[in-house]
Amino acid sequence: MSTVSFKPVVSLVGRPNVGKSTLFNRLTRSRAALVADYAGLTRDRHYGEGRVGDIPFLVVDTGGFEPVAKSGILMEMARQTSLAISESDVVIFLVDARAGVNAHDHEIARLLRKTRAHVFLAVNKAEGMNHGVATADFHELGLGEPYAISSAHGDGVVDLIETALAEVLAKNQPVEQLAHRDDEQADEAELSDEQIAEVLAAPDTAEDKAEAEPEEFTDHRLKLAIVGRPNVGKSTLINTLLGEERVIAFDMPGTTRDAIEIEFERNGRLYTLIDTAGLRKRGKVFESIEKFSVIKTLQAIEASNVVVLMLDAQSEISEQDAHIAGFVLETGRALVVAINKWDGLDRDKRDWIEREFERKLRFLSFAKMHTISALKGGGITQLMRSVHEAHAAAFAKLSTPKLTRELHAAVEQQQPPRKGIFRPKMRYAHQGGQNPPLIVIHGNALDAIPESYRRYLESRMRAAFKLDGTPLRIEFKSSK
Ligand code: GDP
Ligand code: GDP
Repeated sequence: MSTVSFKPVVSLVGRPNVGKSTLFNRLTRSRAALVADYAGLTRDRHYGEGRVGDIPFLVVDTGGFEPVAKSGILMEMARQTSLAISESDVVIFLVDARAGVNAHDHEIARLLRKTRAHVFLAVNKAEGMNHGVATADFHELGLGEPYAISSAHGDGVVDLIETALAEVLAKNQPVEQLAHRDDEQADEAELSDEQIAEVLAAPDTAEDKAEAEPEEFTDHRLKLAIVGRPNVGKSTLINTLLGEERVIAFDMPGTTRDAIEIEFERNGRLYTLIDTAGLRKRGKVFESIEKFSVIKTLQAIEASNVVVLMLDAQSEISEQDAHIAGFVLETGRALVVAINKWDGLDRDKRDWIEREFERKLRFLSFAKMHTISALKGGGITQLMRSVHEAHAAAFAKLSTPKLTRELHAAVEQQQPPRKGIFRPKMRYAHQGGQNPPLIVIHGNALDAIPESYRRYLESRMRAAFKLDGTPLRIEFKSSK
């Protein structure tokens, strides 16, 4: 009962220039399109979600982990990359059909043969080549039958992924889906002008009840992941949260891809903590027995619906902090930021740090930010209040009448700009998903709506529906 199955992880490895990021983009394309660009964030494109059919998996481009070190490929493959490989369900090792086998390929192959990873050898850039010819040289890497693919054109990519994941997926039950979309409903919901008039005239309460609630919109359990780079104070916070509270259930994970879920009650509320650090109970406290792992962090974020991103007030915001924040944004999870180790800082320093963190984290402006002391217990009550707000916002039900009225009010106050002879006309809005909330706006010529206007609508909707703590997605659907 209290374990959760993580999504399978596919790592892409290979020397520079073989096509890892091209393959990464192909595998994660649909997802990337949903993500807005956030000013101030160097978008992290090294982790993403892909899909085979309906089955989601995580993709990690190990090429992005570390800059090419002076000491060459071995350095580059080191540390987090090796860790990523050892924690992956599947490793896709890319080589270049046009360049042939080289010494670096041999080096990587040697490392991979030593791991227990499930390795698939992909001979990339094979478009227009005879497969036998393209792959012939690469048998000598000793990693089984090579697959000829073209990341740029897509040849063989789906087959490769399906084959690679078949074994993993057969062994596991379907992966739990937390983000919900309802595209079919969006199409069915196309309303006539008369219906929109009716919707606008309807009193809130009556219409709210009449609003259909799709069945997928139901799992409201608060699943919390506490993430951050090593030493920010995650285990300390977890112990502060759990130490004084009633732990209801706590199980050891069954397989490597199961995470521990710890159910606990605090101030009368139920929480499920998704463990990122391999917590073990030792006496009265939980102890982290594993080193920080990017993959576990990603998986825990995926399995949660609210994330607490922990930062250390006593050190600078690092690239690793930004990476983790980037992944939270990408998944669309609700988010609360906790700036830890607030104890022992004098007033001047506090003011400065607060301003500095707010400035650097502008791209997380939808999230509440709290200063806390995990060690001394300061600020935790307020933090957990924001966790609840964020959860409620992520699963808010937005009724079509209220959304449509708000949309019309927003347009009345500020019209979208004309583009050529077209003025976009927004007719009505309805909810297309939760966690994060998705608002689908219907009308004509909506392709012409600029990003700045989309942001204006977002902030109107955010304020009207009190959507603090969750990303909000807005999609435009033009009728034919
Ligand atoms: P990475 O360094 O391994 O991430 O490699 P990139 O994805 O950046 O690709 C390196 C170069 O190879 C780029 O110029 C790509 O356009 C090119 N490339 C990637 N995949 C293919 C492919 O399937 N066919 C061809 N012809 N070129 C490719
Ligand atoms: P983790 O790696 O993120 O789990 O970090 P830990 O919880 O192991 O904490 C790392 C170090 O920071 C430990 O020495 C903690 O005692 C210390 N620490 C954690 N929280 C606080 C805090 O609120 N204030 C201070 N001063 N130190 C803290």
